[in-house]
Amino acid sequence: MSIQSFHPPVRTLLGPGPAEVHPRVLAAMSKPTIGHLDPAFVQMMDELKSLLQYALMTKNNMTMAVSAPGSAGMEACFTNLIEPGTKVIICENGVFAGRMRENVERVGGVAILIKDEWGKPIDPNKLKDALKVHPDTQVVAFVHAETSTGALSDAKTLVEIAHEFGALTIVDAVTSAGGCELRVDEWNIDAIYSGSQKCLSSAAGLSPLSMNPAAIERISNRKHKVPSWFLDVGLVTAYWHGGKRRSYHHTAPINNLYGLHEALVMLHQEGLENSWDRHRYHHLALRAGLEAMGLKFLVKEPYRLPQLNAVLVPEQVDEAIVRQRLLNEYNIEIGAGLGDLSGKIWRIGLMGYSSNEKNVLFFLTALDEILASMKAPIFKGMAVDAAARAYA
Ligand SMILES: *Cc1c(COP(=O)(O)O)cnc(C)c1O
Repeated sequence: MSIQSFHPPVRTLLGPGPAEVHPRVLAAMSKPTIGHLDPAFVQMMDELKSLLQYALMTKNNMTMAVSAPGSAGMEACFTNLIEPGTKVIICENGVFAGRMRENVERVGGVAILIKDEWGKPIDPNKLKDALKVHPDTQVVAFVHAETSTGALSDAKTLVEIAHEFGALTIVDAVTSAGGCELRVDEWNIDAIYSGSQKCLSSAAGLSPLSMNPAAIERISNRKHKVPSWFLDVGLVTAYWHGGKRRSYHHTAPINNLYGLHEALVMLHQEGLENSWDRHRYHHLALRAGLEAMGLKFLVKEPYRLPQLNAVLVPEQVDEAIVRQRLLNEYNIEIGAGLGDLSGKIWRIGLMGYSSNEKNVLFFLTALDEILASMKAPIFKGMAVDAAARAYA
């Protein structure tokens, strides 16, 4: 065998996730492995739980990290809260609602999709109208921060409407947690999941999950067993919340949990609201630079996510070539458009540790040079100065 150790290139990660991981978090993950029932590990998990409660602004006792990426947190919410025949309204304004529908249908639920245009936030009036037509709806699900389009929806209002009609809520906060305002208890969100690798800026592979007492009650009243053994929150609770009497459920991803713990310690040290502000601050500088080049955003200002910038590709530019050149010549990763937006937008993430001044200025320099060399219709040489002025 001639296969040698793997040495990944050093990239600047400005895509829709993963975000860059701070050296402190990488260092935490390289600490010695101990047993997942070791008292020292159990104490670390208790701290991790309270750090997750801090990051999500919740006192929910059922707050943990699923040992798998964001998609597993999504699946945990749906498999536990939905039973055969449960009617679920899913608000669709991007890619992830389609996955929610798959989740509902695969466990025998009935999914009703209400559609908004991609790039727009979810329209609360459409949700209200749908609930009037379907008063037997038991769950409403939506994405808070749509990573496929860069649009932010008004989670607080959507949850209020769902509750007026007696439905519980499942909220996808994979991209919102840590990057923009999110208040689980104040907004009365019933079940929420996130991902470790987006604005929380840890390694991929963990999904923060939190459920309030109403969601737990719904689960305890199920007529059927949860169809997934691994994701059954009733079972995994014996490990995550078993206090001193924790019992084996599965082997926790020990070193990855050290990483999430450290990432959340850093978030706590920065302050959650300061982190929201930082995402906005660097977004505004990026915006100044992009607009000085003449580029336009897909999403209108009040609904624009600071952590995911969907930018329209200028006429006659092959967007894939630009992304390839960013990667090959500058070691910068950005994302492509998905679905109908494929070929039409770039998705520039400023998530977690990636959201910093060096990255904004480096990216604008690189994009300016590449687009100018392709003779794209932009104002060249303006972007970096405009961003620097925004910072000044
Ligand atoms: C990334 C993402 C997911 C899926 O998370 P994975 O960690 O990739 O499984 C789900 N929802 C949204 C909004 C996302 O951005």
